[in-house]
Amino acid sequence: MTKDFLIIGGGIAGISAAARLSALGSVTLLEAEPHLAHHASGRSAALYEASYGNPAVVRLSMASGDEFRARPGILSPRGLMILARADQADAFAHDIAEMDLTPIPVDQARSIVPILNPAVIAHTAHADHAWDIDTDLLIQTFAREARKNGAEILISSPVIAISRNGTGWHVTTPTGTHTADTLINAAGAWVDRIAALAGVAPLGFQPMRRSMARIAAPGGHDVSRWPMLFGTGEAWYAKPDAGALIVSPAEEHPMDPHDAWANDMVLAEGLARYEEMMTEPVTRLISNWAGLRTFSPDRVPVIGRDPVQPAFFWLAGQGGYGFQTSPAASQLAADLIADRTPALDADLVAALSPARFI
Ligand SMILES: Cc1cc2nc3c(=O)[nH]c(=O)nc-3n(C[C@H](O)[C@H](O)[C@H](O)COP(=O)(O)OP(=O)(O)OC[C@H]3O[C@@H](n4cnc5c(N)ncnc54)[C@H](O)[C@@H]3O)c2cc1C
Repeated sequence: MTKDFLIIGGGIAGISAAARLSALGSVTLLEAEPHLAHHASGRSAALYEASYGNPAVVRLSMASGDEFRARPGILSPRGLMILARADQADAFAHDIAEMDLTPIPVDQARSIVPILNPAVIAHTAHADHAWDIDTDLLIQTFAREARKNGAEILISSPVIAISRNGTGWHVTTPTGTHTADTLINAAGAWVDRIAALAGVAPLGFQPMRRSMARIAAPGGHDVSRWPMLFGTGEAWYAKPDAGALIVSPAEEHPMDPHDAWANDMVLAEGLARYEEMMTEPVTRLISNWAGLRTFSPDRVPVIGRDPVQPAFFWLAGQGGYGFQTSPAASQLAADLIADRTPALDADLVAALSPARFI
């Protein structure tokens, strides 16, 4: 049976699109891995900080806020603190202006996070406007909505061939072929590979690895109410997570699409940048991982019909913001596919359109 929509990718992009599109017609979602959110969407820092990112990303994140707040349990308060040495004053001033943080005395910062090292840290700033996203709950919520509307979500279904004829797209997995009118490419780091399979020109997406370490709570402190900590210039960040801290070197290293893992040397260097600013050493690494943040050539997400093959829809290049932009991004995808006037401003829609690369 020919479906209206076939979505490739079971990360936050594909699943949120499935929830929206299942209200418009029949949906099949194909995910290569044995469970949803195996790649980038299972490896994020799970932060909603709407002023983080370039202007188009900020507008998408802002536009997502109402829906996050309307869905119980998705957001919980976290807060944000930026730390800098004396020689980093310029970068610190730039960061706090861009992300709208208020400078506070180092002593006050230490009353919130007691392990900050006053011998090294000269500048601190804080903001409340950052929240944890319950990413598992968000994914399950979108998946439940999609299934309730009749969407078929198939795991362990890697797409290996795509062809097109008068009856639409024919998308082949090792267990069969699925047909659909419109193909939605939400394959994360693999979006250009999917385009090539479909005979559509790739747009030049670049996956970038970012690593993460989980460390024991420093000095046995209760870290649960600590804000997210950023080394100025995003040299590293740390965030409380289930009683421990996750610390990232915040690297952006270009990679081919693959099942990413952390680089030991990059992790060690990042942990050293974090440790320099703390009074407590890193004593125990509980685990580590890495994910790919995938960027378009201008680092703005790509949402829209391919200008040459309009039955091929791009939902791609979410970079490091795929969760916090997902409500507005998936809504825009549905608006464009339904030929409705998008809720977002026309200039933002144009900035996100794949037509900008033609
Ligand atoms: C370390 C790290 C920290 C981050 N922190 C944040 C944060 O705090 N806040 C935030 O908003 N974002 C954050 N992000 C970014 C966010 O995780 C991503 O933008 C988002 O997960 C991308 O979602 P996606 O669905 O596009 O990609 P993915 O989750 O990678 O999903 C794509 C899916 O497509 C599937 N696929 C690929 N090829 C095929 C095929 N041939 N057939 C079938 N399926 C296929 C893959 O298996 C994969 O599951 C972070 C990312 C990383 C790595």
